[in-house]
Amino acid sequence: MTITITHLYPQHMSLYGDRGNILALLYWASQLNLKINVQNCSLNEPIDQNTKLIMLGGGQDHDQEKVLKDLLNRRNELNDLILGGAIFLGICGGYQLLGEYYEVADGKRLDGLNLLGLYTKKAGIGEKRIIGNVKAKSNLFGLLTGFENHGGRTFLGRKLKPLAQIVQGGGNNAQDQTEGVLQNYGQGLIIGTYFHGFLPKNRQVAQFILKKIAQAETENFENILENINQKICNYLPY
Ligand code: GLN
Repeated sequence: MTITITHLYPQHMSLYGDRGNILALLYWASQLNLKINVQNCSLNEPIDQNTKLIMLGGGQDHDQEKVLKDLLNRRNELNDLILGGAIFLGICGGYQLLGEYYEVADGKRLDGLNLLGLYTKKAGIGEKRIIGNVKAKSNLFGLLTGFENHGGRTFLGRKLKPLAQIVQGGGNNAQDQTEGVLQNYGQGLIIGTYFHGFLPKNRQVAQFILKKIAQAETENFENILENINQKICNYLPY
């Protein structure tokens, strides 16, 4: 069986190597003998209806604006795909566009997909872009690491749970110590994060995603992954 995953707008929304999230999934899939087909879906191209994951990477404000009209036209389709079991992974600019709106640096408000009750405001007067290495603790995934570079400040509605709690760096808004969002959505799941290098640096999340989208006999996966993870741990100082 071949599993399709989709990189939405690879030309516009792949800032700071966000394509690496797809490559990390391909790497772990190869270790698990899973066949993955990557669909690169550009403006005006149809999303493969069998897709199991849609990744929308980061983008500069002008790139976010370029894809917006096309993205909003896909709102109901994306909603249905996720409700039906797909995972949506939004990184930084892609995460911001999941919400109600994103206020770009010049103050203009871009409507978001409104899949989740979160919104993103531009940096306030005297506030700087949030740039640097970042660490956060997640109940599900343990310690997460990444790199962030964003002007927008994201605030989660009361019903939403963050992906993790910030240990170092800014995360969602450099105020409330939250980072990202993790939300069950029908049969599917939405993960939003400001972390670039997310799946390459956090293999436990890549492995979790693959187990979920493969929906296969996972006991065998556990054995294979346990072996590899042990070998990796032998190399790493942490
Ligand atoms: N343009 C957005 C911001 O500055 C997102 C940047 C990004 O994707 N790294 O907040």
